[in-house]
Amino acid sequence: MSHPELRKLPSVDRLLQQDAVVEARGQFGHDLAVETARDLLDETRAAIVGRDNPCPDSAELAAALLARLHAATRPTLQPVINASGVIIHTNLGRAPLSEDAQRAMLLAAEGYSNLEYDLAAGQRGSRYVHAVELLRRLTGAEDALVVNNNAAAVLLCLMALARGREVIISRGQLVEIGGGFRIPDVLQTSGAVLVEVGTTNRTHLSDYQDAIGPQTAALLRVHSSNFRQIGFTAQVSLAELVALGQQHSLPVIDDLGSGTLLDTTRFGLVYEPRVQDSVQVGATLVTFSGDKLLGGPQAGLIVGQAAVIARLRQHPLTRALRVDKTTLAGLATTLGHYLRGQAEQQVPVWRMIGARQSDLAARAAGWAAHLAAVGVPATVADGQSTVGGGALPGETLPTCLLALSGLPADRLAARLRAGQPAVVARIVDDALCFDPRTVLPEQDDLLLAAILAARQGLI
Ligand SMILES: *Cc1c(COP(=O)(O)O)cnc(C)c1O
Repeated sequence: MSHPELRKLPSVDRLLQQDAVVEARGQFGHDLAVETARDLLDETRAAIVGRDNPCPDSAELAAALLARLHAATRPTLQPVINASGVIIHTNLGRAPLSEDAQRAMLLAAEGYSNLEYDLAAGQRGSRYVHAVELLRRLTGAEDALVVNNNAAAVLLCLMALARGREVIISRGQLVEIGGGFRIPDVLQTSGAVLVEVGTTNRTHLSDYQDAIGPQTAALLRVHSSNFRQIGFTAQVSLAELVALGQQHSLPVIDDLGSGTLLDTTRFGLVYEPRVQDSVQVGATLVTFSGDKLLGGPQAGLIVGQAAVIARLRQHPLTRALRVDKTTLAGLATTLGHYLRGQAEQQVPVWRMIGARQSDLAARAAGWAAHLAAVGVPATVADGQSTVGGGALPGETLPTCLLALSGLPADRLAARLRAGQPAVVARIVDDALCFDPRTVLPEQDDLLLAAILAARQGLI
């Protein structure tokens, strides 16, 4: 039985002949346009027959087709303005890169490079040389190896040094970092046997001493990046672990997580372990992330003793964890900022950490004035930013927020997230708040336009 409305439904060919569609077709390619038109007409037919829907007119069908084509070809990964005040926001891609690092990555992407080619000798070289000299100078370590991320760095260290043997770690450090990264699971995956010592809140040197046996391959220390122990607690210092390791000829692996090359206390924050301090104290291997407090691209950095790094470099897993040329380019440029003593000015993460509250207040006031001029009431209020990214848990930096109230904050927030670029803000006491600390300076106009557009839809 044929539904009378069905006769109005165009064929795939006729839909594709519509002027609006013809114009856009070149942009999407013939095959995708045909396939999408077919799906659209099938669904429209089903809605007519099944739900007695009227047949849409040809302009509506053309618009629906174009919307589908745009949606299908738009990358799912899209830019976001981070107004949340969380500087290293893992869900929002962690560290924004310096301009120089961006340029270096673009250059590496644009053409060929000497990624694995020794230009002086005119023969095959190694990709693992590129950031090594910088890391050695900055951390004082003998050698360095760069892999895909810090989770991979820890896994590689354990697999190369302790597979089939025992690794001793304090119960207070059997942590979950987030995103499913749990130290006991990583140990198990590496094929090492976990030997946990001490208690959740207190571990003593004698606990490690008593656990050392013929099967022991390494001592592991994991920084408590994303939580803080307070009260009746005790952990063994790295220096003590290193001394114990030396007595028994055991390597000490220090997973710093974020790690930092700069002194966080100079920014009014608590001390976050510096990579060079762990190297100096004598850790055999130190691992840390490229995209947390270092402020570079996603990478896992391993620095330490030359003979041990050489073993890691030769391990088959290293090939599977290797980094891309654009990563190496961005990382080397970021490390260069530190070597020249310009990280605080050049690396966005440190610019954000170091931003003065008076400057943030001026920016928030500027936003409020701009909105007031077009009749949108907004206030400026003191607030707190956080470092995030599994670094400095519980630490905050005083900031100044732009606060919008009056409209339902959750609905306004949802509209801002749906915009392009999307905006992620924070709700504080029923007001939608925007922290200038994490909004890049060149995004001010985009942010204000996004706020106005999102409000338009709600009033
Ligand atoms: C963040 C973190 C990791 C994982 O690092 P990624 O670079 O995210 O893979 C591992 N260990 C610690 C202690 C961390 O804080």
